[in-house]
Amino acid sequence: MSIQNNLNTILSQIPEHVTLVAVSKTKPISDLMDAYNAGQRIFGENKIQEMTEKYEHMPKDIQWHMIGHVQRNKVKYMAEFVSLIHGVDSLKLLTEINKQAKKHNRVINCLLQIKIAEEDSKFGMSSNDAKELLLSEDFSELKNVRITGVMGMATFTDNNAQIEQEFKRLTATFETLKTIDTSLEIISMGMSGDYSLAIDCGSTMIRVGSSIFGSRNYNN
Ligand SMILES: *Cc1c(COP(=O)(O)O)cnc(C)c1O
Repeated sequence: MSIQNNLNTILSQIPEHVTLVAVSKTKPISDLMDAYNAGQRIFGENKIQEMTEKYEHMPKDIQWHMIGHVQRNKVKYMAEFVSLIHGVDSLKLLTEINKQAKKHNRVINCLLQIKIAEEDSKFGMSSNDAKELLLSEDFSELKNVRITGVMGMATFTDNNAQIEQEFKRLTATFETLKTIDTSLEIISMGMSGDYSLAIDCGSTMIRVGSSIFGSRNYNN
């Protein structure tokens, strides 16, 4: 199957209100260009340096999403162009994003990463921490960032019931946070193996890599 076929298959399966982020980490620019030429304009990367290099070499109408864990000292490298940062999990990080966005006269859209998985290894905030952040005075002073939704990663398991429960937890958190900030609109959840389930559970943005580009050589 070609990248174009893979893309079209996925697009034909997902409802119109769901946004597809093509996760292109570790893949060469030629693969990304195949997706671009098939119409894809939203790409997700998990390393800032790799995303920046691809940004420099590719058409400028692409929206670049940072989907990985973000180190504060690297925010400056993507502040000029990043379209959405999925993995924001602290006020400290948000403050740095705000600072770097201001230098470029931009408002950077961000998602709060919520910890929904049972396992310990995943990053993310609790639902309560996210609530407190949105209500805090410190946050209200950040004029160059906008929280547009939430992101979550389910436990890596083949137990669908557990994944479903975790996805539903994220949607419930989203609904709670939306009572504080009615402008929230994005629920980023679902990857190659579970995006249909994620959509059934309320996802509005799926992050799909291997089902489009094929499997990666190393785990990310
Ligand atoms: C790699 C990655 C994906 C995509 O994973 P696939 O299983 O290849 O679709 C989605 N989200 C995040 C945060 C990732 O790091």
